[in-house]
Amino acid sequence: MARPELAGLEADLARCYKGKIGVGVPMAGYTTWRIGGPADLLVTPRSVAEVRTCLAWAGRHGLPVWIIGNGSNVLVGDGGLRGLVLRTAHGLNQIERQGSRLSLGAGALLPVLLRLAARYGWTGLEFAAGIPATVGGAVLMNAGTGEGTIGALVSRVGLIEPSGEYVELEAKEISFAYRHSSLLDRGGVITTVILQVREGDPADVARAIRERMAARRQKQPHRWPSAGSVFKNPPGWPSAGWLIERVGAKGLRRGGALVAYEHANFIVNTGGATARDVLWLVEEIRRRVRESFGVELETEIRILGDTRG
Ligand SMILES: Cc1cc2nc3c(=O)[nH]c(=O)nc-3n(C[C@H](O)[C@H](O)[C@H](O)COP(=O)(O)OP(=O)(O)OC[C@H]3O[C@@H](n4cnc5c(N)ncnc54)[C@H](O)[C@@H]3O)c2cc1C
Repeated sequence: MARPELAGLEADLARCYKGKIGVGVPMAGYTTWRIGGPADLLVTPRSVAEVRTCLAWAGRHGLPVWIIGNGSNVLVGDGGLRGLVLRTAHGLNQIERQGSRLSLGAGALLPVLLRLAARYGWTGLEFAAGIPATVGGAVLMNAGTGEGTIGALVSRVGLIEPSGEYVELEAKEISFAYRHSSLLDRGGVITTVILQVREGDPADVARAIRERMAARRQKQPHRWPSAGSVFKNPPGWPSAGWLIERVGAKGLRRGGALVAYEHANFIVNTGGATARDVLWLVEEIRRRVRESFGVELETEIRILGDTRG
């Protein structure tokens, strides 16, 4: 049940924002884990101007703003998100080619981009096959695999700063590291991304994508919802999954959440899992790994909102 005061806020937002406004929307519908309590207000702006309108409105009301791409790397608390959720997927989703550059809305989905890459022979993005992210979320987190990362393809990023100002940053003004970019520390909303690709043979690109998808299906769980790898790989160790397996956590279950048999760094939602279930497993894994190996595992997933349930 949405809180009564939200009706007043919705009416006020509707005066300046003409898109659909969700009230008390369960975030489970907007995350790949299918977990998360209600967002007070949720909008899917379709232009940079609409993003600015919503940010300015939230600023005037002193409301927190949460940005969601495709929700494929977030755990939203069972208590949900107070304030305004701004979702980029399915809103800021334009994809335009300008020579060897792709001009993309931050909400454009990588799987859609990869389908076009296979059709037109754009090469360079094949490593991203199977990553269910938006371009904005992928750039922020420098998503990638052992074969490549999106940061290496970035030519320019447009973003709305926390101050409300729109800026365009050249690649050299952004630093990218393992599952990290300086944009994360900077804050703000990424609205547009220009990626540099190369001309290739469509058949070769399509084959490379198919191969990577097949490899993923072999190595990663795909029957149940997840958020990909939960922990970052700690330096000096084979991988987080290797450590998790060594401490006997594979198959560990809490409520509907299960440490996947196929890949120990995935926690899957086998049905009805709550954020509290996942967080319990996260802490249990960290404790075991700390006690056995003296390693402090760091989460790759971003934990958002009210986790008290
Ligand atoms: C099955 C599966 C496989 C995966 N495999 C991989 C993999 O191989 N490699 C990898 O790196 N990741 C992988 N992931 C994780 C995930 O896809 C990436 O981390 C991705 O970058 C998240 O993008 P998103 O759009 O879903 O962002 P979200 O999960 O929605 O958001 C992630 C963070 O970015 C912020 N954010 C999102 N968009 C914006 C924006 N426009 N402006 C500012 N902030 C923003 C959010 O506030 C949040 O803090 C996988 C996930 C799944 C479910």
